Amino acid sequence: MMPANKVIIDTQYDGQGPCNDNLKKLYIHTFGCQMNEYDSLRVERMLAPEGYITTSDPKKADLIFINTCSVREKAEQKVYSLLGRLKRIKARSPHTIIVVGGCVAQQLQENLLNRFHYVDIVIGTKGISKLPELIKEVQNTRKSLGCFPDHEESCGMEWLSPNTSQWKTEIVAPVTIMQGCDNFCSYCIVPYVRGREYSRKPEDILQEIEILLEKGAKEILLLGQNVNSYGKNLDPPITFANLIKLVAQKTKVTRIRFTTSHPKDLTEELMQCFRDVPQLCPQLHLPFQAGSDRILKRMNRRYTQKEYLTKVEKLRTYRSDIAITADVMVGFPGETDEDFRETMKVIEEVQFDGLFSFRYSDRPFAPSSRMYPKVDEKTKSRWLTELQSLQADITLKKNQQEVGTSREVLVEGESKAGNGQLTGRTPQGRIVNFYGPKSLIGKIVVVKIIEGYAHSLKGELQKQNN
Ligand code: SF4
Repeated sequence: MMPANKVIIDTQYDGQGPCNDNLKKLYIHTFGCQMNEYDSLRVERMLAPEGYITTSDPKKADLIFINTCSVREKAEQKVYSLLGRLKRIKARSPHTIIVVGGCVAQQLQENLLNRFHYVDIVIGTKGISKLPELIKEVQNTRKSLGCFPDHEESCGMEWLSPNTSQWKTEIVAPVTIMQGCDNFCSYCIVPYVRGREYSRKPEDILQEIEILLEKGAKEILLLGQNVNSYGKNLDPPITFANLIKLVAQKTKVTRIRFTTSHPKDLTEELMQCFRDVPQLCPQLHLPFQAGSDRILKRMNRRYTQKEYLTKVEKLRTYRSDIAITADVMVGFPGETDEDFRETMKVIEEVQFDGLFSFRYSDRPFAPSSRMYPKVDEKTKSRWLTELQSLQADITLKKNQQEVGTSREVLVEGESKAGNGQLTGRTPQGRIVNFYGPKSLIGKIVVVKIIEGYAHSLKGELQKQNN
């Protein structure tokens, strides 16, 4: 059954179908976050049984999937500019089906189809499982389609692919455990475009993890907009801490990480997992966003600076070597220099291992876009430079403190530098580059750290663990 809220428009699809060979080429362009990357992976897995293999060249593609994100600035413009470039491809090869998904698609819906007549399918954030049937419908009818269901009909194993033998797996494999968010931070549109929180059943998550481990994954990255509130709407409810314990006990996973955590939902039970679950890596991404209580209130974050700092302190009593990273923004409407100093105070006090820092910018429909006074761009830039310079010093100092230690590193592949080195991560998530045979890829090795840089470490191979 197709969803009722489907839009149909004439298309430029020529009905010729893909080239003669049975393997059709799929080009995916993903904007934004890890959740989007997982959705793109889902599309890849879902279309593999339909005969699609991925290509890195859009000109060779039979199907182009653009997975959009509206979290970062100018997201819509970036999508428009990419679509502009794809117009030429569509003109040269009208059989190529162009699909736009993700948050911008959910926001703009049929407006995208009206503006870009050569787009064949616009699909909302909860419509991905419909993609194979929508593609067939476009091929049969030569009409463009919009599909924006208000709930995902299948969120279990079946949403991935009926044929798991065709899944490609990385050494670090992401697994989405929940969709959507109930928090309504005033600057964020995720709850509007991704909908309310929805947790997958533990048995479906475990089944997916088993398959990924069988296919060679060593580390599982549990993903959700706010994993800390996982499972509260399930029947029976289950805490995120208990899900982690289940994954550790019931599978042969070597390493577990997760992202993202809302500080207000970070429970003591979850903190204790860092002490009690050996497979859980000592690394936590805990976005604090701002240091001033006044700004945190305007952001609707529902914690204070003191509560955040107390949680960090407690976390370190359970696991003293835990690496903590965070997101922070400067220039939220109404932010003064005094508020900004509170943000700097938090950075000084926590000594984060890394920070993702941004200039605030209005997002269409987000409540903060209607908040005043706006902070001018010059002030935002000045604050951001000051903040990043402080954090760069802290990160470098922490990386240099690693020199002389021996760390277990999961080897993820060859270094991007292309100098024959391997690259991997320590349990704390630090990137280590070192020389060693390619046969170590996928294994845990012990590496002695010999240099610490701004963004990575250099090491010397000591021994292989398994
Ligand atoms: S927790 Fe806040 S920032 Fe994160 S997705 Fe939910 S609403 Fe957005």
